[in-house]
Amino acid sequence: MESTFIMIKPDGVQRGLIGEIISRFEKKGFYLKAMKFITVERSFAEKHYADLATKPFFGGLVEYIISGPVVAMVWEGKDVVATGRRIIGATRPWEALPGTIRGDYAVEVGRNVIHGSDAVESAHKEIALWFPEGVSEWKSQMHPWIYEV
Ligand code: UDP
Ligand code: MG
Repeated sequence: MESTFIMIKPDGVQRGLIGEIISRFEKKGFYLKAMKFITVERSFAEKHYADLATKPFFGGLVEYIISGPVVAMVWEGKDVVATGRRIIGATRPWEALPGTIRGDYAVEVGRNVIHGSDAVESAHKEIALWFPEGVSEWKSQMHPWIYEV
């Protein structure tokens, strides 16, 4: 089983999409392992997006992420990193297919509602950054109804 870091960005929180987004991951068959509702500081947002520090949109991206509270989560499941990205949809909402979160709820790349780790490696890094205290270990009683093993 794999884990991924998912964050509902400030626009997703303001627009009342928390329940809808959690619901999509939950109904798919992934397990929520950690969740917090927080407004992050500039230096923390810069650390989270450190790989993008040289991009022209970096300043605006950091302003966006610190503009209000976010919902930070860890979700676990089979192939949850790649599948989570497919649930989220393309970075640019105009390229995101209907049925994806960005395809259904976003218009602008700088207001694209949600973040998801792009690889297993970055998921490890992001989970360690956002949840240094660790996550909750639990097993859903539904497990055998969702997974073959
Ligand atoms: N972003 C932006 N302008 C761009 C590309 C990205 O504002 O031209 C923002 C957008 O919010 C995106 C985030 O920067 O979600 C991180 O970019 P990345 O390429 O990692 O996309 P993601 O992994 O979020 O799909
Ligand atoms: Mg990314």
